[in-house]
This record gives sequence, structure tokens and C-alpha cells, in this order.
Amino acid sequence: MSTLEIKDLHVSIDTEQGKKPILKGVSLTINSGETHAIMGPNGSGKSTLASTIAGHPRYVVDSGSITLDGEDVLAMSVDKRARAGLFLAMQYPVEIPGVTVTNFLRTAKTAIDGEAPKLRTWTKDVKDAMAQLRIEPEFAARNVNEGFSGGEKKRHEILQLELFKPKFAILDETDSGLDVDALKVVSEGVIRANEDGTMGTLLITHYTRILRYIKPDFVHVFVDGNIAEQGGPELADRLEAEGYDRFLPATAQA
Ligand code: ADP
Ligand code: MG
Ligand code: MG
Repeated sequence: MSTLEIKDLHVSIDTEQGKKPILKGVSLTINSGETHAIMGPNGSGKSTLASTIAGHPRYVVDSGSITLDGEDVLAMSVDKRARAGLFLAMQYPVEIPGVTVTNFLRTAKTAIDGEAPKLRTWTKDVKDAMAQLRIEPEFAARNVNEGFSGGEKKRHEILQLELFKPKFAILDETDSGLDVDALKVVSEGVIRANEDGTMGTLLITHYTRILRYIKPDFVHVFVDGNIAEQGGPELADRLEAEGYDRFLPATAQA
């Protein structure tokens, strides 16, 4: 059993107008096997939380902590976070010129596990995972993120998730921009990645539709840089029916 614990996290960014606080005291504990959904209006700081867990240099942690089984995640390099078992999709959002999907996956897998995967099973695992995600075989020879469509980026993200087998997956808007069929394929991939039920998942989303496939154990509503309300799956149903209006200041509702 592993635990990812976020405690009283305050995060800001430096802007031309000065320091801008974004996260304002977020506390959240995710155990192995649990699926937590973070939902909230645009601009509430959801991606900032994901990027901070990922170690994006833009985000400054002013106070608070993130630990994985008691180890200080914030002190870890981005690579070390991956080796420790954190899967952070935004880690590789950029084009990697001259690096094919095949090479990238094997290099990353080797870095994460600390040893190269056994070639025969690995090749089969990659092939099977790609087929299940309905990714054409030619995709493997393309350069990472070069000309990828939105849907291809998401499938590539879930392909990594399935192959890397992390302890904790942080998925930021994996559902955005997907049509219904792609959403189902991607959701099934997330479910397969958690086949043995031990993966902890932080599923960040603006919309409830992905939660029809991936059932959260806990739902947290994020508003203005903090968790405004927590509940079970029924909270997502309520948000679907009511939207975020009741969480927003009266002036924003007009
Ligand atoms: P969400 O993911 O919930 O839509 P974000 O974390 O992307 O929210 O953004 C939270 C707030 O922080 C917003 O007001 C956004 O404009 C600001 N913000 C986040 N990242 C940056 C950045 N790199 N530069 C400037 N402002 C940012
Ligand atoms: Mg946003
Ligand atoms: Mg976001």
C-alpha cells in the first residue's frame, strides 16, 4: 500500500505583475487503489496542482508538502518522481525531434524501472496495448508529439500509462476534446492500467462524462485554488445536474 499525500499546499507563479498565488492550502490524500476526481471551473487551479506534482519549474511552492510514502516529492527531480512511481502526463508534452514513439517508450520504461524491459515480452506488450487503444502500428514509427492530433496525444498518454504501470497516475483533462468513441477507448485504457486494483488515480476533469466510465471513489470540487467540497460519486451527479454555479461568487453568476 502506498500513499500520496498533499498537505496544505500553497503554490504561486511569477507574472509580470508580480507573484500570483494560485493554490491556497490544498490538502488531499490518495491511497493505492483509490480513484479521486478533481472537478472544478476553468481557472480554479486544477492544472496547477497537476503541474506542481509533476515538478514543472514554472510553479513555485511557497509552503506545504507533497510526499509519497513519506518521501519528499518536491525534493525529487522530475525523473526521480517517475522512478518513484508517479505518472504525470504533462511530463512529456513537447515534441521530441528525432525520437520515435517506440524508442521513447522503451527508453522511458528503462529509466523508470532501472533496467531494460525483456525485448520479446515488451514488443508484444506495446503491440497489444496499441491495438487495444486502437492506435495504428505506423504510429510507433512517428516522432513523439510531432503533428499528433489531440486524440493521438491522449492515446499516447494512456499507452504510456498502461506500459509504465505507475503507483499513482495524475491525469489532467484526459477527456477533453475526445469524441464519445475515443473517450470510451481511453477510459478503458485507464481501467486496464488499474487491472490489479492497486493504482491510485487522480483524475482531473471539468466535465462529468468520463466519470461514467471511470468511477471515482471520491470527488473533490476545486474552486479558487482550493477544495471547496468533497464527497462520493453522488457529488459528480449533482455537479452534472447543477453545474458549478453554487460554488462561484454571486457576481460571476450573473
Ligand atoms: P484550471 O486547470 O483549473 O483551468 P489552471 O491551473 O490552469 O486552472 O489556472 C489557474 C489560474 O492560474 C488561472 O487564473 C490561470 O490564468 C493562472 N495560471 C496558471 N498557469 C499560468 C501560467 N503559466 N501563466 C500565467 N497564469 C497562469
Ligand atoms: Mg483550464
Ligand atoms: Mg486545467
